[in-house]
Amino acid sequence: MTTAVGRTGSDSEAFWADVEAGGLPLRRCRHCTRTFVLPLPSCPYCATEDPEVIQAKGTGSVYSWVVVHHAFDPAFDGDVPYVVAAVQLDEGARVYGRLEGIPFDAIAPDLTVERVAPAGDGRPPLVFRPLARTPA
Ligand SMILES: [Zn+2]
Repeated sequence: MTTAVGRTGSDSEAFWADVEAGGLPLRRCRHCTRTFVLPLPSCPYCATEDPEVIQAKGTGSVYSWVVVHHAFDPAFDGDVPYVVAAVQLDEGARVYGRLEGIPFDAIAPDLTVERVAPAGDGRPPLVFRPLARTPA
């Protein structure tokens, strides 16, 4: 069974608690409007303080990905092979999560994806799948 690893007591603990509850919190700079994930007190691009917290919609596109064949943590041994993708969210920030629901050889740059609601069963809380398209 997959478990959350290394989150307790970290600066990202509140982020992961929100993600596990179905949210996807980002920080947006009140000056330059760029978004970022880290809970920083100021914008990493222009240093303006006090960014606002917004919730991402959970849609975006694949920036890059890797197929994991050897889990870097024993908690994920039962999941291999799996895909970890860098997803460029529509709000601008980039996050990393599982990519499921597509054959490995069909993954391509700019593939549009959407977040899957957290299963709450110990599975990774940040999972994406190809965006369901409406037939033309
Ligand atoms: Zn800024």
